[in-house]
Amino acid sequence: MNTVINPATEQVIAEYEVADAAAAEAAVERSVKAQREWARLPLSVRRDGLRAIAGIVEAHVDELAQLEATDVGKPISDARGEIGGVAECFHYYAGVVDKILGDTIPVEGGVDMTFREPVGVVAVIAPWNFPLPIASWNIAPALAAGNSVVVKPAELTPLSTRRFGELVAGLDLPADLVQVVSGPGRTVGKVLTSHPSVAKVSFTGSTATGQDVMRSAADTMKRITLELGGKSANVIFADADLSRAIAEAPMSVFGNTGQDCCARSRILVQRSVFDDFVAGFVEATRALSIGDPLDESTKLGPLVSQAHREKVTSFLRDDLGTTVAGQVPDGPGFWMAPRIVVQPDPSSQVVRDEIFGPIAVVLPFDDEQDAVRLANDTIYGLSGSVWTSDVGRALRMARALECGTLSVNSNSSVRIQTPFGGFKQSGFGRELGMAAIDGYTELKNVYIKTDL
Ligand code: NDP
Repeated sequence: MNTVINPATEQVIAEYEVADAAAAEAAVERSVKAQREWARLPLSVRRDGLRAIAGIVEAHVDELAQLEATDVGKPISDARGEIGGVAECFHYYAGVVDKILGDTIPVEGGVDMTFREPVGVVAVIAPWNFPLPIASWNIAPALAAGNSVVVKPAELTPLSTRRFGELVAGLDLPADLVQVVSGPGRTVGKVLTSHPSVAKVSFTGSTATGQDVMRSAADTMKRITLELGGKSANVIFADADLSRAIAEAPMSVFGNTGQDCCARSRILVQRSVFDDFVAGFVEATRALSIGDPLDESTKLGPLVSQAHREKVTSFLRDDLGTTVAGQVPDGPGFWMAPRIVVQPDPSSQVVRDEIFGPIAVVLPFDDEQDAVRLANDTIYGLSGSVWTSDVGRALRMARALECGTLSVNSNSSVRIQTPFGGFKQSGFGRELGMAAIDGYTELKNVYIKTDL
């Protein structure tokens, strides 16, 4: 039995019987049949299938957003936007169904061409911080390319994905094309990463679990996409529009209460504007309203669980000189006010580890070279930002920084049309955009001899 808790109230909001390993195996076997049927359908039918999924999500935005807000503790206005993004993702990949192209390649003695074939059954193992959005980034391109999917949501926050599974099951699509199997990683996750009939695993979560997934998938040589942790840098030069950089910095690290793999949790500021930045950043963070996730004006909710709050607060040490920027509600809930740590030792845990909570570090740098050295001094490489008014510097930094997704004069990370994924221990493979299709297809090369 899984008991789901609202992290803002500590009340039980759902209970259900979890799936076991046998249920996961049965789902994979059904998925094999569904995939064969789906891949044979005309392109226009597959396109309309993805459109129908987008439509059913649009028709249930409020319900799904409410589930996400109460399950994750996410502000309702964020949740509504994110569920809207789920529908957009299915619309986008509906348009991709008939644009998955091959090449014709000049060769001697014949004609050579490539096709992109579906990989087969795809397992999507999703995290608890953006439950349905991240699942959809994998479900939609997998379906567009002719695959079937078995989705495992995180047991901490399964509700939106379970409801999505029910809604999709009611559509006129091949039976079992999209199945949601809700059970723990150690049983259901293990089956999905080792079953011989699963061709591909798309995993989002911690780097440690990502390593387990790789090991488990190795025996049957599964294709894998891993979207893992991050410790992204927000690099602010003295020539930047400082007031904009300050205004946008708090939500880039404290949004979703810091439980965001793209959180810009290492803020690097050029020394001449360092003190001005810190003063403005603390003030702007204090202005974020913390409280009831169902209140439209709330910007920050609680952390996802008591255990996670304990993990996050374990990073706080007396010698860090932390500034507390905000006031949390009294009473139940896994609350934590944003903390700002100014000029900690660059080798300390708070600078090096992914915290996944509302703790930001701010460090000074002297020049471009120093900024690159500090920004790249991490095992991670997911996202990052550079703030400058010098186009040449922006381009030099964009090339020098070791991360998969970089924004200049912005802290945005995710757009449905563009590739998203990490360098180094932030994972590999790309989600979203046309690049995601590479991960859901096998490239087949066909040579036809024409010379007699
Ligand atoms: P995990 O990486 O353990 O969980 C992510 C997903 O993997 C969940 O659905 C989980 O299932 C599943 N899972 C767990 N173990 C296995 C396994 N052996 N095989 C297959 N699937 C498995 O994240 P945690 O919840 O433990 O979070 C820990 C830390 O991970 C966070 O503090 C944060 O640093 C990082 N994280 C990063 C995320 C990102 O977006 N990159 C997202 C979430 C976490 P279940 O939990 O249901 O058992």
